[in-house]
Amino acid sequence: MTTLFISDLHLEESRPDITGAFLGFLKKEAPGAEQLYILGDFFEAWIGDDERTPLQEQVATALRELSESGTRIFLMHGNRDFLLGEDFCTRAGATLLDDPTLIDLYGTPTLLMHGDSLCTADVEYQKFRANMRNPQTQKLILARPLKDRQQMARQLREMSMATNQGKAENIMDVTLEEVVRAMATHNVQQLIHGHTHRPAEHSLEVDGKAAKRIVLGDWDKHLWWLIAKPGQAPKLNKAPL
Ligand code: MN
Repeated sequence: MTTLFISDLHLEESRPDITGAFLGFLKKEAPGAEQLYILGDFFEAWIGDDERTPLQEQVATALRELSESGTRIFLMHGNRDFLLGEDFCTRAGATLLDDPTLIDLYGTPTLLMHGDSLCTADVEYQKFRANMRNPQTQKLILARPLKDRQQMARQLREMSMATNQGKAENIMDVTLEEVVRAMATHNVQQLIHGHTHRPAEHSLEVDGKAAKRIVLGDWDKHLWWLIAKPGQAPKLNKAPL
C-alpha cells in the first residue's frame, strides 16, 4: 500500500523535459500506488478546460491510463492552475480537491494544501488570490474568448515575475503562525504542501504536541515525490530531472 504526493511540476510546452520526466514517473513510480495526490501548480498556466493543447491532452491521457489501472488520482489547484476544472479532471480520471483537504493517511490525520494561502506576509498576493478565487471573477474570466485569456495569462505571468523579484525571501515563504493556526483548526499534527519550492521536513509544535510540516519540491531541476506507506514516516524522494 502506497500513497504518492507531488506538486509544482509547472508543466508547459517550453519544458518537454519536465513532461517527459512526469510521463516516466507515471510508468516507473506510480503503477500499483493506491493514490496519487497532485497538490497544485501541476501546470504552469491554465486558462480554461476548453484550451485543450496537445500537452494537456497527452497528460490527461497518461493520467487516465493510471486511473484505469486502479490508482485514484486527486488534483488540487495551485496559484497557476486555479482555473483547472471538472472537464479536465473527467478526461484525466481525477478528482478535484478543495484547498485545504483533510485526509486519513494510514491512520495519521493529514492536512493537504497547495501552500500559497499560508504565505500571509505577502499581503498584496493574498488580495490577488482572494479576487482570483472568487467564483464570480472566475466566471467572468472564463466567459472571455480564448485569445483574450491567453493574452491575460501572459500579462499575469510577466507581472508576477516582476513583482516577485522585488520581494524579500521571507515574504515569499509560509508564515509559521498561519501554519500553526491552520493545523490547529483542523486538529492535525501532519501537513503536506507545495508552492514555496523549498522541499523539506519541518518539526514544529501545534497545541503543545509535536507536529510535522512536509514541503514538496518543484520539478525545475529534480523530480520530487513523497511516498507514504502504512506504519512508516512519509519519505521525500528526489531524482535528477
Ligand atoms: Mn504555487
